[in-house]
Amino acid sequence: MSDINTRRIHIKGVVQGVGFRPFVYSTAKELNITGWVRNSSAGVDIVASGEIKNLDLFIDQIENNPPPLSVIDLFEWFESPPELFSDFNILKSKVIPGGFIPISPDIAICADCQHELFDPGDHRYRYPFINCTNCGPRLTIIKDIPYDRPLTTMASFPMCSVCTSEYSNPTNRRFHAQPIACPDCGPQIWFQKANGDNLAGENGLREARRYLKDGKIIAIKGLGGFHLACDATNPTAVKNLRKRKRRSEKPFALMGFDIGAIEKYCAITNPEKRMILSKEKPIVIVKERPENRLPEQIAPGRHTIGVMLAYTPLHLLLLEPEENFPDLFVMTSGNISDEPIAYINHEGMERLNDIADGFLMHDRDIHIRMDDSVSTVINHKPYFFRRSRGFAPRSIPLQGNKISGLAVGPELKNTFCLTKDEYAFVSHHIGDLKNFETYTAFTESVAHYCKIFRISPQKIACDLHPEYLSTKFAREWSQKNNIPLTFIQHHHAHLASCLADNNYFEDSPVIGFIFDGTGYGTDGNIWGGEILVGNIKESSREMHLAEMPLPGGDHAVYHPNRIALAYLIANHIPLGEKLNPIRSFEKSELDILRKQIKQKINVPLTTSMGRLFDAVASLLDIQQSISYEAQAAIEMEQMITPGFEGYYRFKTTAGIIDIGDVLKEILDDIDQEVNAGIISAKFHNSIVDLVVNAAKSLRSQNEINKVALSGGVWQNLYLLKKTISSLIAEGFSVLYHHHVPANDGGVSLGQAAVLAVNN
Ligand code: ZN
Ligand code: ZN
Ligand code: FE
Repeated sequence: MSDINTRRIHIKGVVQGVGFRPFVYSTAKELNITGWVRNSSAGVDIVASGEIKNLDLFIDQIENNPPPLSVIDLFEWFESPPELFSDFNILKSKVIPGGFIPISPDIAICADCQHELFDPGDHRYRYPFINCTNCGPRLTIIKDIPYDRPLTTMASFPMCSVCTSEYSNPTNRRFHAQPIACPDCGPQIWFQKANGDNLAGENGLREARRYLKDGKIIAIKGLGGFHLACDATNPTAVKNLRKRKRRSEKPFALMGFDIGAIEKYCAITNPEKRMILSKEKPIVIVKERPENRLPEQIAPGRHTIGVMLAYTPLHLLLLEPEENFPDLFVMTSGNISDEPIAYINHEGMERLNDIADGFLMHDRDIHIRMDDSVSTVINHKPYFFRRSRGFAPRSIPLQGNKISGLAVGPELKNTFCLTKDEYAFVSHHIGDLKNFETYTAFTESVAHYCKIFRISPQKIACDLHPEYLSTKFAREWSQKNNIPLTFIQHHHAHLASCLADNNYFEDSPVIGFIFDGTGYGTDGNIWGGEILVGNIKESSREMHLAEMPLPGGDHAVYHPNRIALAYLIANHIPLGEKLNPIRSFEKSELDILRKQIKQKINVPLTTSMGRLFDAVASLLDIQQSISYEAQAAIEMEQMITPGFEGYYRFKTTAGIIDIGDVLKEILDDIDQEVNAGIISAKFHNSIVDLVVNAAKSLRSQNEINKVALSGGVWQNLYLLKKTISSLIAEGFSVLYHHHVPANDGGVSLGQAAVLAVNN
C-alpha cells in the first residue's frame, strides 16, 4: 500500500465510440495499474492506482497518444487518497445531468475492416456492415447519449455470441464498438426490382451489379441516405439519370472503388489525393483528364468533377472491380431536384420510384440524414463547399464562449450551430429551408442536436432578414422559451464566421471582403459586395458595389440576361441590338422588362458581387438563364485563359465602387472580338485589383494589416487563390475559411461567434 498512489482523471472531447476505453484499459494493464474507466455524458472518467512512475507513464500515454479518431479538448487529473483495486475494469456508463460530450462524425471504413471484408477466412467476409471502433456509422445512428448500443438504431439487432465476446473483450478492436455486427446477427441487404421481386444477400448484390453493368440506374441506401448510381462511363445511363432526376445541370458526384479508378479519369495533385484517401472521404473537386473525357452530362459546362472513394463496406462490395465491369460510377444524392436526400426505406422507395430501376436496401435505420461533404484543397488544407458527412458535428473552438447558444443560420444552404463552453457545434448540411421537407428536417435536427449535446440554449441568434424561415423559427423559439434573440446582419455573420474559423477572437479589427450572392442589408437592400472593417463583435460598412436594380428580386438569380439588362440601363449604356443579353429576349419580354425596370415595379436594389458576375457572364453569352445558383459564374471561371494578367479598373468614389466603366470596357472588348477566355481573365483580375487597392487604402487609414475573405463568391478558386497571393505580396495577412464553407453554410458559425463575444 505504501507506494501505491491514486489519481482521478477527467477527459472531455471526442472520446466515446472511438476505442478510448479499450485503449485506456490495455494501457492500464501494461503498466500494472488498477482501477476503472467509465464513459459519462460529460466525457470519460478514470480512477487509476499504481506506482508513481507508472501513473506518470499512464497519463502521458493517454494524453499524448490516444486512439486515432479521438480528439481531447480537456485533460485534467488530481491526486486522491490511495485506493486499492484488485483489477482494472470498464464500468457501465453514467449519465450526469447537464453534462455533454462531443459526438464523433461518421467515419469511412478503416483499412483493417476493409482487409477483413475481402478475406475469405474472416468471420465477416463480404459482410456489408463490418465496422470497428476506428470506423463506421456514428452520428447517423445515434438517438441519444451516452453513446451505447441501446440508444442507437442498432438496438434492434441483439448481438450473437461471437460479436458479444469481441464487444466485451478489451483487447479486441471491436471492444464496445456500438454498431458491431456480423452476418449471423446484424443488418442484412436485399435488392428490390421495379417489378417487386426481391433478392437477398449475395444474390441481391450480384443483381445490383448486373444492373449497373447494363447501364441501369439503381438507388442504394447507404450511410446517411440514398444514393442514385449508374455507370459513369455510359453516356446513355448518365443522360437517363439526369432526365429522371430533373436535376437541371448540377454536376453529379462520382465514386470509385480505389484511387486508381479515379486517377484514370482525373488529374489529381498529391494534396487532393491525400484528401480523397482521408478517413473522412469527402467528395473532392478535381480536374478531369482531357485525354479521357467522361460523358459531358456528368457536369455540363465544367472541366472539374467531384470524386470520392467508396466509403462503406456496402459501396465497396457493390463497386468491386471485375473484368468488363465499369470502373467509375455516378453516386449522387437520392432526391429529386431540391428535395432533401431520402433516408427512410419506404419513403426512399416511394420518392425514388420514378428514377431508379432497382433498390439496394438494408434494414439498419438511419436516424438522421447526412449528405456527402464536398471540398477542395487550398494550400494543403481543406476548403469546403459543403461540410457534412465525416466532419459534422465535430466541434470548432469558440474562444471565450460562456453560454449555451443556438444560431439558426440563413435560409439557403442552411446549417445551424449550437454552442456550449468553448465549443461551437455546426450541424451537418441541412439545405434550402423553403423546401417543406428540408424545413421539417431543420426543426427536427435542431431538437435532436439539443438533445444529444444536452444543450438548452440561453440565447438565440438569427439573420436580419425578416422573411427567412430560420428567422421566423428563431422568433417563435425565443418567444416560447422567453430567451433573448439577436438579429445579425448576413454579411457581418460571414465576416464573423471567417474570423471564428481562423480562431481569431481579438478586438483589433480586420478588413473583410464579403463577396456574396444575397443578404439582407441594414438599409433593406440586397447586399453582397461589401467591404467591412471590424471584428466579431461589430463591423462598419466602409465600401460597397454601387446599387443596381434587380428586376424580380432574388428570382433574377436564374436569369443572368435580366440582370445584365438592368445593369446596362442603370449605367446608361445603350441597349444595342447586337448585345448578347438583348438578343436573348423576345421583343415583348424585353419591352415588359424595360418598363418594369424604369417604373421600379418589384425592382429592389442590390450591391451583390454574385449578381455582377451573372451580368458579365450574360454579356459574354455564357448562359442567359441557368438552372442552379451561380452556374453562369462557375462556367465563366472555367473558361479563363490561364496566365493572362490584364484587368479592368474599378473606380471608387466615397466608398461606392462604380461598375459602369468596367461594363463598358467589357463591351468594347466583345465588340473587338477579344477572346471570351481573356475577357473572363481580365474581369476576374479586376476584382483582385479592386480588393488589393481597397485593402491598401483602408490599411493606410486604419493601420489594419489583416484581411478576411468570406461569402459565396469566394468559392471561385481562381479569384480566391489570386487574391490571397496578391494580398500576401502586398504584405497583408489573409484569413480565409478552413472548417466551414465561405458560402452560407458557414453563416451559422458566424452568428454563434457574435453571440459568444456579446456575452
Ligand atoms: Zn474498422
Ligand atoms: Zn454477430
Ligand atoms: Fe451569404
